Amino acid sequence: MGALYSTNSKASLNQDKFNAHNARAFLVTCMDFRFLDDEIDYMKEHGYDVNYDIFVLAGVSIGINQTKYPEWEKTLYNHIEISKTLHHIEKVVLLDHLDCGAYKTFAPGFSNEDEEREIHLKQLEIAAKKIKEKFPNLKVVCKIMHHKQRNVEKVLVLK
Ligand SMILES: [Zn+2]
Repeated sequence: MGALYSTNSKASLNQDKFNAHNARAFLVTCMDFRFLDDEIDYMKEHGYDVNYDIFVLAGVSIGINQTKYPEWEKTLYNHIEISKTLHHIEKVVLLDHLDCGAYKTFAPGFSNEDEEREIHLKQLEIAAKKIKEKFPNLKVVCKIMHHKQRNVEKVLVLK
């Protein structure tokens, strides 16, 4: 089969778009363009390849918990519901990252990376519990991307 879009396109067409119906996970990532390639690489390296739905929400956990835009949280739940119905997902992955502009906006006050990580831990726990309460059959996995160390820390799993 030839390229679907353009022979000049570098886009990979890995997923079976005609026959695939199940996605393994529902990934929530920040909108920050600096981390998108790392996030996709990370998911690929951890066996997900392109087998997940993706939802982009500024700040991920803090985006769910902040109260200035309550519709963000509702819209996330609407999308998880659709993902469950259409793609039979097993888990939600919340992938926070450090140096996040949304955290500086909605939860300012940390002065170093340890404090920043602590705030992420608290916000991830709150967000994960909310999702678990709404969707008790879904596993919720929380991670923090540390770009300086070039690693991703798994911080919480609700089974
Ligand atoms: Zn961010």
